[in-house]
Amino acid sequence: MALFNEIATTFVEQTKLVYNYTIHQLKNPAFDNVYYCVLIAYSLCFFLEIILPKQRKHGVLSRKGFWLDTFYVLFNDVIIYIIGLFGLCAVTELLLFKVLALFDIHSLKVVDITTWNPILQVFIMFLFQDFMEYWAHFLLHKFDFLWAFHKIHHAQEELGAGSTRHFHFVEMFVFKPLIYIPFAMVGYSVADYFLFQITVQNVWGFFTHMNVKINWGFLNYIINTPETHMWHHAKNIPREHGVNYASILNMWDLLFGYFYLPKDKKPVLGIPDQKSIPNSFIGQTLYPFRFLMSKKGGAPQNTK
Ligand SMILES: [Zn+2]
Ligand SMILES: [Zn+2]
Repeated sequence: MALFNEIATTFVEQTKLVYNYTIHQLKNPAFDNVYYCVLIAYSLCFFLEIILPKQRKHGVLSRKGFWLDTFYVLFNDVIIYIIGLFGLCAVTELLLFKVLALFDIHSLKVVDITTWNPILQVFIMFLFQDFMEYWAHFLLHKFDFLWAFHKIHHAQEELGAGSTRHFHFVEMFVFKPLIYIPFAMVGYSVADYFLFQITVQNVWGFFTHMNVKINWGFLNYIINTPETHMWHHAKNIPREHGVNYASILNMWDLLFGYFYLPKDKKPVLGIPDQKSIPNSFIGQTLYPFRFLMSKKGGAPQNTK
């Protein structure tokens, strides 16, 4: 009972904390304010899509799913955190330390880098985050029960900057608490992780989903670009569980053999069982649960 109370108190207190933080940030615009960073990044990508459209017929505002994507940005960047994601991360941290205490381990810290040079700290956190995101994303494609959720992101047939947040919230509940572990190993709290994740990773997502006519050349072999990520969203690919899983650094795909950037064909976006995915937010939120209860076999990502 004491443990239950501790979990409930942690969840409520941390949720209140992030709620107050969010309200404070939204009321105080500044260039170093995470929410305004996200807004500026979205606006910049949006502007690029207007002046350099790759698929002109989509338009920007008339693109299929534009308004739904914009709602997903608000939901997955603001609402989900204040209704429980941050509280859940804090509870996971609490439970993790309870379990470790049974083995007389009282800290996850392998090395404390919080006193190191700030630039070096950011570099290490960036590599950790990107590597963990890579494998989390890989698992979303690999296992049918996770793919049922991740399909919501892949069922989009036309991409634009906002498409990056068009995903099922369960993805975050499954992975964010776990991705935090490497951060704890080098001395950071869950709050540090949250701040880092929302700025770097979220801003990059707008860039990779942009509908822009730019040839990224050699950059495609270093960072995840709209060109490489478009192939991640394609169904005319050679692997049934997908290609190009990188969030930011494409070296993981090159290293593990999942990099795909053919020069002789164009990506066809979407998934083979496209028609089974509802068009509304509520429909898409319920879809994976209905799919899993129906015990249907999972369809692969690629068309044979
Ligand atoms: Zn994916
Ligand atoms: Zn994507």
